[in-house]
Amino acid sequence: MRLLHGRPVAERVNARTKERADALASRGTTPTLDVLRVGADPAAGTYLARLMRQAGSLGITVNEVPLPPSEADIVTHLQLKTKHAHGILMLTPLPSPLDEAKITEHIPPAKDVEGVSPESVGLLTLGRPRFIPSTAEAVLELLRFYEVALDGTRAVVIGRSPVVGRPAATLLLHAHATVTLAHSRTADLPSHTRDAQLVVVAVGRQGFLRGDMIAKGATVIDAGINVTPSGIAGDADESVAAVAGALSPVPGGLGAVTTALLLRNVVTAAEQQIGT
Ligand code: NAP
Repeated sequence: MRLLHGRPVAERVNARTKERADALASRGTTPTLDVLRVGADPAAGTYLARLMRQAGSLGITVNEVPLPPSEADIVTHLQLKTKHAHGILMLTPLPSPLDEAKITEHIPPAKDVEGVSPESVGLLTLGRPRFIPSTAEAVLELLRFYEVALDGTRAVVIGRSPVVGRPAATLLLHAHATVTLAHSRTADLPSHTRDAQLVVVAVGRQGFLRGDMIAKGATVIDAGINVTPSGIAGDADESVAAVAGALSPVPGGLGAVTTALLLRNVVTAAEQQIGT
């Protein structure tokens, strides 16, 4: 079984991002990302700390912007107070009863580096993406780096969230895989996953995907991040390793690639906004 490590993929992406950020710096522009944080989700805090460390090493500024849990305040902020930033990331989940979908409508599309605004989603669906949700794009980046065949492949994506499962399924479709998008109402999930050459699991439940649910030799991409007493764990159970042909580990798989792609998007947004 081959482990699909994220680090070499992230290093390759970051090296190019640094060159582009340096070129912008030589023209007096520091690519800048505003991260809007509503509430105090601990997992979001960990993610933000990692993002800031990585951004610093690439010459990208990340500002943490704490906001109150008020739709009116968040929307006003998005409309009036983001001019200095090239990219905007809103950490999720937002505390209830805030309506994530409604709020993302107010992220200026040119700064929507996480690809969640209706315009970004529409462009991706049409096959003309501007910015793509970074975890979903990381799935494809990882598969391409390790030269996993996609054209004509039977793929199952488990999870249909707008940030992971749904855009990952769209990207696989654009790469000419035959895609099944499964979710909590899918009947007899194993009958789908056992028939697939590629399984992407993005459910958010430790040990969700078991070895007896996949075909021998299948490629498994694990997007799950579950905080356990012994550290971070993915959605794939230990039994998957004995059956899969290739597996992205957690930790050590998609996470670093996700961060690298988000930061690459910040540089792309900066280039577009200053007109390089
Ligand atoms: P989410 O919004 O909670 O979505 C979970 C999805 O799983 C939903 O579509 C849900 O179906 C589906 N699901 C739940 N129970 C199921 C079942 N029994 N059978 C089949 N499908 C089931 O989560 P998310 O934001 O997509 O995140 C998923 C995981 O990825 C989490 O662990 C998260 O931490 C991780 N994540 C990783 C990264 C990264 O950088 N690696 C980035 C973001 C998220 P319904 O739609 O029917 O409810």
